[in-house]
Amino acid sequence: MAAPFVDTARITVKAGNGGNGAVAFHREKYVAAGGPDGGDGGRGGSVILEINPHMSTLMDFRYKRKYVAGNGMDGQGKRCSGKDGEDLVIKVPKGTVVRDADTNEIICDMSETDRFVLARGGNGGWGNKHFATPTRQVPRFAKAGLPGQERQVILELKLLADVGLVGFPNVGKSTLLSVVSKARPKIANYHFTTLFPNLGVVYVEEGVSFVLADIPGIIEGAAEGAGLGHDFLRHIDRCRLLIHVVDVSGSEGRDPVADFEAIQAELKEYGSGLEDRPMIVAGNKVDIAADRSGLEALKAHVEGLGMPFYEISAAAQMGTRELMLAAARQLEHLPPITVYEPTYVERPPEVDTSAPLNIIHEDDTWIVEGPWLQRLMANVNFGDYESRNWFDKMLRQSGLFDRLEEMGIKDGDIVSLYNLEFEYQR
Ligand code: GDP
Ligand code: MG
Repeated sequence: MAAPFVDTARITVKAGNGGNGAVAFHREKYVAAGGPDGGDGGRGGSVILEINPHMSTLMDFRYKRKYVAGNGMDGQGKRCSGKDGEDLVIKVPKGTVVRDADTNEIICDMSETDRFVLARGGNGGWGNKHFATPTRQVPRFAKAGLPGQERQVILELKLLADVGLVGFPNVGKSTLLSVVSKARPKIANYHFTTLFPNLGVVYVEEGVSFVLADIPGIIEGAAEGAGLGHDFLRHIDRCRLLIHVVDVSGSEGRDPVADFEAIQAELKEYGSGLEDRPMIVAGNKVDIAADRSGLEALKAHVEGLGMPFYEISAAAQMGTRELMLAAARQLEHLPPITVYEPTYVERPPEVDTSAPLNIIHEDDTWIVEGPWLQRLMANVNFGDYESRNWFDKMLRQSGLFDRLEEMGIKDGDIVSLYNLEFEYQR
């Protein structure tokens, strides 16, 4: 069996951790103790999505599920910073919609955005060279790097096409695409699914063109009741117009009206209003129609539903130009291709603040560390007021300030939390 077309994938991405800052002191012959010269840790690499216009499936994600960017290196003495971790660039086909795996919210639509940072690398920790102050000349501490973001996402391919071809296998969709555009889809005389969506640009006349998509077909045996499987319909989700191709030749003993209705039912079952998408119906293979009864019945049926009907022969290129002109005319009045707006809301992580933090007191500085604090800080956006408030709340809830008071902290002392330092005020 051929590999199924892959149009959805669940992956885990992990950005690199920041390297740790170094504690080191300048040493020179005959100089007893030099100043602090520990370098900073390198930044962790980020995981970045990029559109590759030549990809048309999510096949590459089928076997590789975890994507990890490089960690930053630790800082060294002599003010040497650690090397930054390498970014990891993941290529996706144009039209890939990225969702949060837990909430299903849309994180981004890789249609208009060419590049998107999906997981941010952790900041490197500062080396002790940063911490020398008049009252703190021998800082024996440096900061640990922050962890990189990790998240699970669902990739979903929704092609960017103005017009989508729908219809049973073997009715001539691929043939139609091949004669009206330069696309070279696979054409086969058997009931077999087209494995890859094909896109073709249809040039109608100077300055008028549109993108036509031939989507992976309905599965083999669908007509015999094996189930139509409407997964493939996500590819035409964005289409502004559908062309429903029906075989009216009677050559395979098919009933055009019944076929038409079966596909319509499938569109409806998909459940995102596809059945209401503007539609043109094309009765194909008129060149070999033994009689016109099936064709006439279908024409009357769809015109009764208020849809335009065209009779064509894709293979003989009869009526195909008129069909494309009609499509172009309709498109003029239709809204543009849907691009999904992000719905994802960044939330600070829920952390368990019960584990006690480690507090080191040096001169006027209180250095606070601990796994939950590290995780929390890696995920708080300090540029955002709400997030800052939330961070503050978590710190209070943990009892950190009460403990600092007990240990004798004074107003104006410095509280040092990884990449954040502030003056303590009661
Ligand atoms: P799809 O499965 O809907 O993409 O159908 P294809 O384009 O692969 O066509 C299925 C078969 O029907 C192929 O053998 C085509 O050559 C044939 N075919 C397509 N259009 C026509 C047509 O207008 N007239 C005739 N006689 N055969 C056609
Ligand atoms: Mg086909």
